[in-house]
Amino acid sequence: MKHFPAEDWIDYVRQIDGRGQRAAMQKHLDEGCSKCLETMNIWRRIVTLAKDQNQNAFEPPAVAVHAARASFALRKVVPFPAGQLEVARLLFDSTLQPVAVGVRGSVAVRHLLYKSGEVCIDVRTQPKPGSDSMVLIGQLHNSTKPDRGISGIPVSLLCDGDTVSRGRTNDVGEFDFGLTALDHLQLAFGVGSNRTIIVPIPDGESARGLT
Ligand SMILES: [Zn+2]
Repeated sequence: MKHFPAEDWIDYVRQIDGRGQRAAMQKHLDEGCSKCLETMNIWRRIVTLAKDQNQNAFEPPAVAVHAARASFALRKVVPFPAGQLEVARLLFDSTLQPVAVGVRGSVAVRHLLYKSGEVCIDVRTQPKPGSDSMVLIGQLHNSTKPDRGISGIPVSLLCDGDTVSRGRTNDVGEFDFGLTALDHLQLAFGVGSNRTIIVPIPDGESARGLT
């Protein structure tokens, strides 16, 4: 069964149909895919909260923040800061770029770039030499000071909203995680005392389907 990646479910819950597959996604849910239903529910909760909070920028809805904190705590996600919840925008995906003929077919390093407000998140995934596993390496910058990383930021690697691993950005804003699979992954950053930035990583499978 072909599953839909997180970024498609984000569009779905935002009522955006950029890739013209909304009907197919609805059908997939109707056919009872519990995996995708769970992914959709996670993003519906996140996107709804983010929207509620944007509409009340000067007065964060305490109830919604509390509910988000409770549901995330239950799912053992990030230690959830008070306030804003943001979904970072994907600005660049190297797998969607034209590839030189000689390079096609080799196991590529994937490069993704995201932005949320002034925060830029650079993500690379690549095979770990001498093993079947992968490594995810990233860096957080402030777009107004691009040469400086953002250090000391708690970062969690999630799979379908459940925490897989936790870390913190180093002195130059870098972080890394070992991976066994590239599907259904998200990153969550606790920025300052009042922002959580969620980064959906497109599935490896969907990327191959698009090339
Ligand atoms: Zn599915």
